[in-house]
Amino acid sequence: MILQSNPKAAYLERRKAIDAALARVLESGWYILGREVEGFEAEFAQAMGANWAVGVANGTDAIEIALRALGIKAGDRVVTVSHTAVATVAAIKRIDAVPLFVDVDPRRYTMDPESLDALLSTPDGGRAKAIVLVHLYGQPVDMKTIVPMARARGLSIIEDCAQAHGALLDGRIVGTWGDLACFSFYPTKNLGALGDGGAVTGINSSLRETVQLLRTYGWKNRYVSDLFGINSRLDELQASILRVGLQHLNQDNERRRAIAARYNRSLAGISVELPWQASNAYHVFHQYVIATNGRNILQERLKRLGVGSLVHYPMAVHQQPAYADPTLRPVDLPHTERLVGRILSLPMYPQLRDDEIEEVVTALHTAIED
Ligand SMILES: *Cc1c(COP(=O)(O)O)cnc(C)c1O
Repeated sequence: MILQSNPKAAYLERRKAIDAALARVLESGWYILGREVEGFEAEFAQAMGANWAVGVANGTDAIEIALRALGIKAGDRVVTVSHTAVATVAAIKRIDAVPLFVDVDPRRYTMDPESLDALLSTPDGGRAKAIVLVHLYGQPVDMKTIVPMARARGLSIIEDCAQAHGALLDGRIVGTWGDLACFSFYPTKNLGALGDGGAVTGINSSLRETVQLLRTYGWKNRYVSDLFGINSRLDELQASILRVGLQHLNQDNERRRAIAARYNRSLAGISVELPWQASNAYHVFHQYVIATNGRNILQERLKRLGVGSLVHYPMAVHQQPAYADPTLRPVDLPHTERLVGRILSLPMYPQLRDDEIEEVVTALHTAIED
């Protein structure tokens, strides 16, 4: 069976370096907020073009902390998309802010600028305080259009970079276009830990201090909370693993792009839609997502042929029971609702071998012709 993702393969490839890093931490006697987290934060900030990075427990916390740091409060409207990991919206709900959903562009799968413009012209949209932009599947959002629109309305801008570590738009790295950027290091992400982890990055140094306070109970001095903060720390073991992974991020992203290019070549002419790429973007292919009306049958056939695949995501957030709030304005998200039934993520991870890529391609040809 060819797996859809395979974080163990990354571990095995770097076993010596990771085992050595783990031994170093275990023998140090210091396990929370120490040298490894500090070292990783400095290295990650530099790699992401930020002035600073603060490690946190996971990507969901990163978004919650970023919203709080920007002063978003209960009842505030926060604009985002419904075609995303539920985590994006869970973070908004956790501070009792109100998500306002914008439809996605039918080719790019990220926020559609025209739909955003329409929302911002409604009374509810006009009151929005912040926007969370998701660089989904490794494809940058159309920031050149959307950032000026959001700025003109005075919105705080958060980038959800959980699927896009190292992606570029016009040569400028994602995470540097807004006010704060949020990352997840869930094991399957482009930069993955072997457990949970996350980070907030930014340019503005006063926001750095706020983010640091928020991740440890709001303590400016130990045991005295100046802010209402939470406990959301990246631990030393995960930070030491991430320092190894970060050294491989660029080459891993290159490999993901090479796999995508190979899929593109071998699947051209087949009756499925292949992922669209903006010509000014460096897409880092967290996922390689095809689309077809016969998605469920195709997935079943691929499985029988030994090829794993996943649907990211089978239900839009606003369709899920916990998020179907009847008091909110009715959502009109035709592209979002259409694509959830059609998308399929093919095997994609840097250690996927060339012969395995060929097997996936052959299986797809067979499954479609059946
Ligand atoms: C993975 C992910 C998150 C959340 O990350 P966790 O570390 O799982 O909390 C947020 N947004 C997007 C788009 C993601 O893919």
